[in-house]
Amino acid sequence: MPVFARADGLIDIKSLSLAEIEAALTGLGSEKFRALQVYKWLWQRGVHSFDEMTNVAKAVRAVLVERYYISFLDVAAVQKSGDGTHKFLWLTEDGHRIESVMIPDDGRNTLCVSTQVGCAMACTFCLTGDLGLRRHLRPSEIANQPLQVREALDATYRITNVVMMGMGEPLHNLDNLLPALEIYLDEQGLNFSHRKITVSTVGLVPQLQRLAEALPVNVAVSLNATTEEQRRLVMPITRKYSMEALLEACRTLPLKATKRITFEYVMMAGFNDSMADAQRLVRLMRGIKSKVNLIPYNENPDRDIRRPADSVVRAFQGHLVKHGLQASVRVTRGRDISAACGQLGKTDPTKALVEGQKIAAIRIRREGEGYDTSRFVLDDIV
Ligand code: SF4
Repeated sequence: MPVFARADGLIDIKSLSLAEIEAALTGLGSEKFRALQVYKWLWQRGVHSFDEMTNVAKAVRAVLVERYYISFLDVAAVQKSGDGTHKFLWLTEDGHRIESVMIPDDGRNTLCVSTQVGCAMACTFCLTGDLGLRRHLRPSEIANQPLQVREALDATYRITNVVMMGMGEPLHNLDNLLPALEIYLDEQGLNFSHRKITVSTVGLVPQLQRLAEALPVNVAVSLNATTEEQRRLVMPITRKYSMEALLEACRTLPLKATKRITFEYVMMAGFNDSMADAQRLVRLMRGIKSKVNLIPYNENPDRDIRRPADSVVRAFQGHLVKHGLQASVRVTRGRDISAACGQLGKTDPTKALVEGQKIAAIRIRREGEGYDTSRFVLDDIV
């Protein structure tokens, strides 16, 4: 894994894999088995200090403190939607804002995770794309999101599913995403099943193949059009990887027999919601183990794009189903807190509802940081 060190020279121990912690500890004269103890304290117990690792010998802890630190995202704010959706606004160590969204739905709690600060893909319908790419998130920053949401919310909101569909294009940051996913999937780490993790992409074809070869997670492709010209209008990446090349890659992707690729289709009124589009979509899906997720556009003041009428969405879905496709319509969640699809990165912190006490308590527990709860005054993250 890429190793990250802070300005003070201390290394982010969460940027090390289990094997790397083993190598580091044995290099410092410690027993190999200590590494697994440390790793579990980091990713299963989520400790904030080495002193909390009570089954690790004091001498080993002392060595760790001298060389490493335990990284966390700063919880800047939590907004709760009327529909139970929670949006977390985090601050990275270098002051960037990123977001994660927890969506409770029908017995499932899905966490939507960010993989970059901003995004370079510039899909025209997406507000996150307006930010441009500021930087890739580190593996520890990608893996800290579920760890810290687990810590912040009670058992009612136990995370059952993870979707890499927050800020950023996950496969643009594949070098950091893969080690992060190893932590998600590791029984000794965050311990998610591969069946419960979905990675979304606009269609970076070589990286998609690399991901499928490396790990058995679910894949979602953001399609949003039924012709090359139409897709180029809203998804500039189509100029680099044509829709045809993308769909061909999907046909041949080395997926487990039980897996289907989800095709996300943001429906925009008068643009891609006609019956001709529905017919083309049926043809495009031929030969691909697919399911289609229709996402009626989330209208917002920054875009002149309209959401199709419900009757249009139903007719479109009906055509897909009639022709043998598995097709669902995504219910919009968290729109009142700008947590819906394509809205991340636009949080107005002055309007954020802060569940301050609970989150502040977590931060105060961080040993030695002298954490000041006045940080919950949102002005300093504007
Ligand atoms: S839709 Fe996804 S890939 Fe496209 S700009 Fe938004 S965050 Fe980036």
